[in-house]
Amino acid sequence: MQAPLISYLSALLVLVGLSIHVATLYPLRRLISILPAGTLRNKWLAMTGLILIFIAGYLGYIIVLWGRQTEWNELFTPGIFLFGALFVWLTISLALQTAADLKRISLLESENISDPLTKVFNRRYLDRRLEDEVARSMRYSIGLSVLMIDIDHFKRVNDTYGHHGGDAALFAMGHLLKSALRDLDVVARYGGEEFMVLCINTGIDGAALVAERLRHLVESHPIEVADAAGTSQTIKISISIGAAGLGGGIDSKAALVQAADKALYRAKQEGRNRVVVAEPLPATGEAI
Ligand code: GH3
Ligand code: MG
Ligand code: MG
Repeated sequence: MQAPLISYLSALLVLVGLSIHVATLYPLRRLISILPAGTLRNKWLAMTGLILIFIAGYLGYIIVLWGRQTEWNELFTPGIFLFGALFVWLTISLALQTAADLKRISLLESENISDPLTKVFNRRYLDRRLEDEVARSMRYSIGLSVLMIDIDHFKRVNDTYGHHGGDAALFAMGHLLKSALRDLDVVARYGGEEFMVLCINTGIDGAALVAERLRHLVESHPIEVADAAGTSQTIKISISIGAAGLGGGIDSKAALVQAADKALYRAKQEGRNRVVVAEPLPATGEAI
């Protein structure tokens, strides 16, 4: 009398385990969909194959051993099958939650440090990074320079193409600057239509060359903007750049930014579309 009952119970345990394996395919598919293409994703894809093998194995167990279990201790193996399936489901569900959380955190982090309009770093990140870089450069006596960049006559762009056109030009400018610089350098929006570039491990002579390259690049790359009627137009813009480097009396974050700002002011005064390199500061005690 007990034998068929044990056999039914055995099949039931394995069937529940099999259903859990089938259900696991759903979180597994979601996990694969949020992973970028690469080795890790391929390994999780291989895991799908393993689960399908498990499902086939569970099914085979039910069919081949149907009606053969007669002793209670023969429920031990189906029980292990069931817990094995639960374990796989739990592991994959946790992996999915972990991946989703990490993705959310990395998105929040990148939103926290990037400027939403131009997609370059924002002012908050720039301030923190500049502080760190100045400290590092002073400590190890390595070069550090900054370029303060301001778009010339930007008001005209807004006046002619509207705020939307101006925004498109700012986005294009961010893209152009990023594309022209090393990954190591930092491009940030300083505010309005001003950008700042941190030239890491670069003295003022090298930075002046970089600045000239950027100025020429912008001048020779017309930017596409849409006017109020939505018609796409290419416009030419230019930038003025103030460059300053650590050394020659410039020995703090504030002094570096101030020197670059002054140099930018001179570039504007001298006619725009040019690079001006900051003068070394007068030695302490010297009349200004
Ligand atoms: P110059 O620097 O050559 O002296 O002239 P300018 O016309 O660029 O001078 P100014 O700094 O006075 O004007 C900057 C303009 O940039 C004014 C402001 O409306 C515009 N601006 C600032 N932020 C944004 C923005 O996020 N989007 C747009 N479309 N315009 C902006
Ligand atoms: Mg300005
Ligand atoms: Mg300007």
